[in-house]
Amino acid sequence: MNTHYDILGVSPDASMADIKAAYRYMAKALHPDKAGGDPAAEEQFKALSAAYRILSNPLRRRHYDATLKIKNPTPENIIAAIKDIAWGVFENITGRKHSLERHHGMAGRDHNYTLTIDLPLAMLGGETSLDVAISGLCETCHGTGTAPGSIQKPCQPCRATGEIRFHQGLFTMRKQCTVCRGQGRVTMAPCISCEGHGRIPRTTTMRVKVPKNTRYGTVLRYAGLGTPGPQGTCGDLRVTIHINAHPFFDRRTDGIHCTVPITFTQAALGATLDVPCITGEMRTIQIQPGTQSGTVLSLHNPPCDIPHKIRLQIETPQAADPQLREILESLKNMEQNLVGYPRVNNFKKSSLERGRPAKQNH
Ligand SMILES: [Zn+2]
Ligand SMILES: [Zn+2]
Repeated sequence: MNTHYDILGVSPDASMADIKAAYRYMAKALHPDKAGGDPAAEEQFKALSAAYRILSNPLRRRHYDATLKIKNPTPENIIAAIKDIAWGVFENITGRKHSLERHHGMAGRDHNYTLTIDLPLAMLGGETSLDVAISGLCETCHGTGTAPGSIQKPCQPCRATGEIRFHQGLFTMRKQCTVCRGQGRVTMAPCISCEGHGRIPRTTTMRVKVPKNTRYGTVLRYAGLGTPGPQGTCGDLRVTIHINAHPFFDRRTDGIHCTVPITFTQAALGATLDVPCITGEMRTIQIQPGTQSGTVLSLHNPPCDIPHKIRLQIETPQAADPQLREILESLKNMEQNLVGYPRVNNFKKSSLERGRPAKQNH
């Protein structure tokens, strides 16, 4: 909804002189004698006259201000207004936001996307695709924002500069002209397809180049693929990378770790094992007899320049099978004298000594 202030292109705390000046400029452009029977201009002229009738009368204006506040007094609105004033952006009580060109730029907003990729792609780099809504040139108006056949005129309230000056306490602030959205000229009939923006969002599949050794949270920025601003300058497209946890690869500072489960007999008797690499290729490793669980081996011939560490983890057999259980029971009997278990043996001996109570001397 356009407030009377919007129609006049002034801020809600504009002085009477500002309101008068804005009305005079607008009325000149939109006057039926000048606009030459343009029905859109006629409508605008009527709205302008109505707005001026109210805002030029202090009492009527005060009433009008009060109704505006009642219409949308949510705490969010109030907080947003305070925050925005601090940042030099004024949000009026109807919730419509007017950029106060903090950097004097009129660029559009950034588009944010999250792209979740697998660990191998993050480490090795490569290409993937992402569906994004990027703004493309409007085909109806070819990006001009103007309905075909309609004309553009210099904006009167801002004197074609695109900004309005107003006072906020001791400060003189500038705000984007709401009539021309900062463009300095007004289109009598904006394009219907793009609502005068000149661009429309379009879903497209884009190729995303993932750099080698990409970390979780990395942001890839594509300049100019965000939302178009009032002057057609687009914001950026920002793609934040998330990385899926891998079932057996683990990225560490010293390279890629792969946890490989092995059986008790493979560890005890030694074995030859095929292990996967991050590239998807396989390599063969030798397990020495008597290998302990948790042993880390370095792969001597990894297929890429990333160091590969193979962490061996003994899987304890689940003795549900009767035959396996029988074998384990007989192994247990053999373990009574702890032959072949030096560490268990040492631990048992030393803990027995430490745990023994001190000799009583009296
Ligand atoms: Zn258009
Ligand atoms: Zn303007």
